[in-house]
This record gives sequence, structure tokens and C-alpha cells, in this order.
Amino acid sequence: MLAYKNNIEKIKSFFPDTKFIEYAGYENEELYETFFQFCQNDMVRNNLKLGDKEALFYYTPYSEVMAGAELRNNILLLAVNKGAIEELHLMFNGYHNVFQQNSELNNWFNNLANMLNVSIGSLMYQCSTVFLYRHELTHLIQKANFITQPEGNLEVTSLGINKKQIREMDADINATYLVCGQLISYFRTLDTEQKNIGNLEKLLTVGISSIYIYLLLYCKESIEIYFNQYSHPHPLLRLSYIVDHFVLFAEKNLDNQFKINSLMIVNNCLNKSEIFNLEILKSGIDDNISNTFANEKLNIKDHILALLNASFELPELEMNNNCP
Ligand SMILES: [Zn+2]
Repeated sequence: MLAYKNNIEKIKSFFPDTKFIEYAGYENEELYETFFQFCQNDMVRNNLKLGDKEALFYYTPYSEVMAGAELRNNILLLAVNKGAIEELHLMFNGYHNVFQQNSELNNWFNNLANMLNVSIGSLMYQCSTVFLYRHELTHLIQKANFITQPEGNLEVTSLGINKKQIREMDADINATYLVCGQLISYFRTLDTEQKNIGNLEKLLTVGISSIYIYLLLYCKESIEIYFNQYSHPHPLLRLSYIVDHFVLFAEKNLDNQFKINSLMIVNNCLNKSEIFNLEILKSGIDDNISNTFANEKLNIKDHILALLNASFELPELEMNNNCP
């Protein structure tokens, strides 16, 4: 077992100005400890991709649902805000009754919840936190492999594609694989007759919806569609390529026994996430988001393709650093 206090001792001695928390005695102590063990072990497993550098996980006292990754004095630091654990726990576990109370969510998810030995809320908490962590780990891999200097604020590829968005997409895709792998493990626990395409699509919808709901927490102000602007791709683009990679990964890992309908999953995620947000956050995201997706589908596809096609120009990406 790894010890969180060892990480804190090192951080205190190398970077005395760093703000951190120690969670012993917290109400949710077990959540912090379980997540620390999971993340720090995964960082150890990814040691080669991290350029053999020391990588330390810790929690900060901040309340925003955020995490961060940095390379300081040749040490890789991955920080998760206390707010990320507390808020995502409250949102998905604290209000898990929503899956019984709302008839549409109940009808849709209840059978699945009964088959799995885990509640839908805790599955969503797990998926969103694992995604948040693995996304940041990928930024550490990119930093460890960063061999060219940034060219200022607007970094673009030879064809004018926003490099920051490519790095974010790389982080999202790598995070997708870890979350999807966990969902497939759950799927494998089902009885033979329960291992059908309907349950697989529902399980993937639960995972992707939790990621999408988490991503939407960043854009409460405006969700108008954009393409090559800003550092992160628009949530609809992120949702779209996350679904595509979930589907590819799941089909391949289940020996191509199932043909998954990506578009149906996107639409179900948009629909179920909107209901969830209305129930929990008491506000919808945007009534028109499903329409926006339908109207912009081709432009969304084009920009994702442009990001993917330009990705070979960034050697630091995880997708370009596949160690054995
Ligand atoms: Zn990022």
C-alpha cells in the first residue's frame, strides 16, 4: 500500500509553497484514500510514458471541481482539488435517489442497476473521477515528452489547427480508454443472457453521461457552438469523439461480438444528462443542445477529423508515445 503522507512529505520538502490537504479524519476519508491509491498506482504503472520521472499525486484545498498537472524541477505533480471529490460525490452519490424518483431515468437505468452490484450514482462518480484523473495524467505524459517550446499564446499546426485543443483531445481519449475498460469489466460480470447489446449500450451511456455532465460544469455561462477557438474543444465535440472512442474500444475488447450504435448513444447521453441536470442542478444546460448537435453534426465531424489529422505534428502526445 502506498502512503499519501509520503507524497506530502516530499511535496513539503521540494515545494514548500504548495497548498495541500491531508484527509485523515475527513467525513469522506475513505473516498480520498481509495482514489489516491488508484491514481498513484496508475501513475507508477505509467512510469515509462512519464519518462521515468518521479510523479506525485496530492489533493489541494480548493473547492472548484478541477485538477491540474505540472512539471516542476523535474518532478511531475498531479493535483486534484478537494472540491472535485466532494462535489462529484455529492452530485452522483448524494442524490442517487434521482434514479428512483425520476420515472424516465428509473425506467431506463433501473434494470441495469439491479443487474450490477453497484448503484448507477456510484458508477457515475467512479467514471467521472477516473476520467478527471486520467485526463490530467495524459497532460503529465505530454509534459514529460514536451521537446519543442510553446510558440506563445496562439499555437497552431502547419494547417492552422489549434494545438491546445489537440492536446486536450489526446487527454480525453486516453482517459476514455481507462473509463471504458472499467465499464467492460462490469459488463463481464453480467450473466450470459444479460450480456446483450441493450445492456452494453446502457452501461456505456451511464459512463459517457457522467463524463459529459462533468465537462458541462465548466461551461455554465454559454454553450454556443465554436470550433478552432479556445483551449478546449466544445463539449459537443468532446462528447462526440469520446463516444466514438468508447465504441471502438468496447467493440474491440469484446472481440467484435457487438455492433454498437454511436449516434444512439450520443442522443441518449444528451437526453439523460439534460434530465439529470434538471433534477440535480435544477437547471438545464441548453434546451437546444440536441438541435445544435443535429444541425452541426457534419461541422463537428470535420473539426474532429482536422484535430486528429494534425496530431502527428505533436510528438509529445500520449497517442504518439505508445511504450510497450
Ligand atoms: Zn486538459
